[in-house]
Amino acid sequence: MKKLFLATGNRKKIKEISEILVGYEILSINDGYKIPDVVEDRDSFEGNSQKKALEIAKVVNMPVIADDSGLCVEGLGGAPGIYSARYSGENATDESNNKLLIEKLKSIENKKAKFVCVITLAKPSGEYHSFRGEVEGLIVEKPGGTDGFGYDPHFYVEKYGKTMAEIPEIKKKISHRAKALEKMKLEVEKYI
Ligand code: IMP
Repeated sequence: MKKLFLATGNRKKIKEISEILVGYEILSINDGYKIPDVVEDRDSFEGNSQKKALEIAKVVNMPVIADDSGLCVEGLGGAPGIYSARYSGENATDESNNKLLIEKLKSIENKKAKFVCVITLAKPSGEYHSFRGEVEGLIVEKPGGTDGFGYDPHFYVEKYGKTMAEIPEIKKKISHRAKALEKMKLEVEKYI
């Protein structure tokens, strides 16, 4: 079976990706590998996921999958974007990030937003391919649901009339991550 290394320690992501990439041996830091902490200092989701995947592919010497994701709000010029995880500062939590987001949007009419995920598949040779997935929504002041993480309780999906945190089963199919993964799944065989 061909090996693929996932550059994340997040068990939820490992499970989600393993379920989609059937037929590959999926490895991660949970299998005893030591990987460096890659600084995400590029100015795009593509840049950060490519940097992570390429650096780690050289260390583990096999094809690597790395992702970078976040929330982009139209009325905020695309913020928090690549800074989504640390929007409210170094010690940011989901709660403090959401509080800041709602505060900033109080006086802004345009609440359109999208979640973005870029997944990069890189090889130790330096070859890489990136896949982008997006899902659109609106930021709502009142949080709804308890099932998600991050900005999910404030991300309202018009088609379902609910926030992402209220529709976990649907999220699995329509999310930015699911879409990027689906694109990668279609092409992964060509590249490894
Ligand atoms: P990372 O790419 O996993 O580091 O995610 C960056 C940040 O984007 C997270 O900490 C969340 O704040 C936000 N984010 C990414 N994906 C989602 C999602 O599916 N729901 C809610 N927030 C998300």
